[in-house]
Amino acid sequence: MNVENIKQITVIGAGTMGNGICHHFAQCGFKVNLIDTKQEFLDRALAVISKNMDRQVKKEKITEVQKKSFLANITVSTDLTVAKDSQLVVEAVYESLEVKEAIFKQLDALCPAETILASNTSSLPITQLAGITNRPDRFIGMHFMNPVPMMKLVELIRGIATSDETFDLITKLAEKIKKVPVAVNDYPGFVANRILMPMINEAVYCLMEGVADEEGIDTVMKLGMAHPMGPLALADFIGLDVCLAIMDVLHDGLGDPKYRACPLLKKMVQAGYLGRKSGRGFYTY
Ligand code: NAD
Repeated sequence: MNVENIKQITVIGAGTMGNGICHHFAQCGFKVNLIDTKQEFLDRALAVISKNMDRQVKKEKITEVQKKSFLANITVSTDLTVAKDSQLVVEAVYESLEVKEAIFKQLDALCPAETILASNTSSLPITQLAGITNRPDRFIGMHFMNPVPMMKLVELIRGIATSDETFDLITKLAEKIKKVPVAVNDYPGFVANRILMPMINEAVYCLMEGVADEEGIDTVMKLGMAHPMGPLALADFIGLDVCLAIMDVLHDGLGDPKYRACPLLKKMVQAGYLGRKSGRGFYTY
């Protein structure tokens, strides 16, 4: 297959990442099937995509006519079997090995042999997900960043069996949709979270040890390192439960005590202080 043959893409999971991935492919001219378990989740995702496109119209990045044609590229379904006509399937469901395994088993049975299967997982091993299927050579990690239409980066993660052909094809596709692909081998946390999460974890240690307060820590990193957001505000944005889960993946996968999660991070998750989504994290929302 070459990149011109990719016309129809299925995105599974219509949450934060799935709706962003769907939005971006649709505005790059691809036909996209968006799949979730309930019609109400799909309706919500379409409403979010439409609202985000309105913002692009307001900023004069796209026209009202373009918005209509982009939305017309999207079809939604609660039936996974529609994926069988796609050349590429991008999975973006919950970060759960069991849920992803079940989906990839079904997709492998359903889709023609040449269909490429991709996962947007932040932290699960691509090699392990690929190993569930009978096509580990046509399996790859496509780790988009949130918000997908705005963020340039996509980490392309090669499982141990990902073929050069698959890797080259998805690299060309990423370039075609105006993203900057970075080749990454399959190790815990890939590159983005391997570097980001220990930095956030260290910021939580600084807070726990009283080195500085929340505002102080974030101000140092914003003004001193030119980060657009401080690490504690960023942790609240990502979700403290997600940060903790990724630290645990790094700790388990790499076996180095330097990746141990900060006790304060654990305590906050135990208390249900998960960041923006629960109204309270390092800051109150
Ligand atoms: P989310 O919770 O916002 O959305 C997940 C969606 O998957 C939900 O709508 C849910 O209904 C749906 N879903 C669950 N089981 C399903 C099934 N069997 N079939 C179809 N749909 C199903 O999650 P998210 O933040 O969008 O994360 C999705 C994936 O992307 C995860 O693997 C995560 O690690 C990864 N990721 C997240 C971010 C981020 O910043 N949020 C960034 C990069 C990667």
